[in-house]
Amino acid sequence: MIPAPFDYVLAEHPDHAIELLGKREDAKLLAGGHSLLPAMKLRLARPALLIDIGRIGDLSYVREDSDTIAIGALTRHMDVAASAVLREQCPIVSFTAGQVGDPQVRHRGTIGGSIAHGDPASDLPTVILALDGELVARGKGGDRTIAARDFFTGVFQTALASDELLVEVRVPKLASKGWSYTKMSRRAQDWATVAVAAIVERNGSVGKASIGLTNMGATSLRATAAEEALAGGASVSDAAALADDGTDPPSDHAASADFRRHLSRVLTRRAIEEAASR
Ligand code: FAD
Repeated sequence: MIPAPFDYVLAEHPDHAIELLGKREDAKLLAGGHSLLPAMKLRLARPALLIDIGRIGDLSYVREDSDTIAIGALTRHMDVAASAVLREQCPIVSFTAGQVGDPQVRHRGTIGGSIAHGDPASDLPTVILALDGELVARGKGGDRTIAARDFFTGVFQTALASDELLVEVRVPKLASKGWSYTKMSRRAQDWATVAVAAIVERNGSVGKASIGLTNMGATSLRATAAEEALAGGASVSDAAALADDGTDPPSDHAASADFRRHLSRVLTRRAIEEAASR
């Protein structure tokens, strides 16, 4: 399919993009284009103006602070996957970036695009949610920081205002915590049918865990019932059996909602076990 007609402008720096966004309601930012352009070709999105932020070099970086790591929103998946800092300090993020699509997708797609798109089937939002990460949004009034828990508000919906640019993703260093991102898809390099992120504090046994779910509802979700059961002393199997509590998974060509519920329980057990052993 061919997209509906649109105007195009290349943003030179973040403030330029914000200024352009504020001028037209029917404008959209273009980063890697690997979610927006397919949607435009299917005419599911019809922006009248594309503001290309893909060449703003200032927003492509991975920086280490004392206990957090800051990732520029325009950092491409392949650079996140290859980052020595992330591999050392927060490997669940670099590993998961390496699980996104295929090499072509990873060479164009950006972490900011993945998060701003708000697709519940995307991998990195779930990991950022499980890590209790933060997102930095920039608008005319300056920067504001949004907790990942408050960021994802619905299918393809986020807490970003229409004239805001996502500029940075912040994640904590994992230190001695174990981790896993366990993804099940029908074909290699496909979107997750279901995936589970687990971050586990190890004190001889699994006591406290953060568990994130991909494609189990309108947004990436936390498996709160399973987390609470583990904190209360339940076994990994008993806690994992609660993974789908409070979820509302879709039925589609890849799987029924019931099968997704089953998968979420199995993958949660596997993810916690892998995280505890790492
Ligand atoms: P774009 O497509 O350019 O933009 C997406 C949306 O976010 C647009 O609405 C845009 O306006 C907005 N946006 C982009 N950047 C910003 C910003 N900085 N601030 C505010 N708004 C912004 N993803 C997965 O997670 N797992 C997969 O397995 C997977 N497989 C894929 C397979 C294929 C064949 C394709 C085409 C894509 C796949 N993806 C997958 C999606 C891929 O990760 C995309 O790159 C990503 O979802 C969007 O990033 P982008 O930079 O391409 O964003």
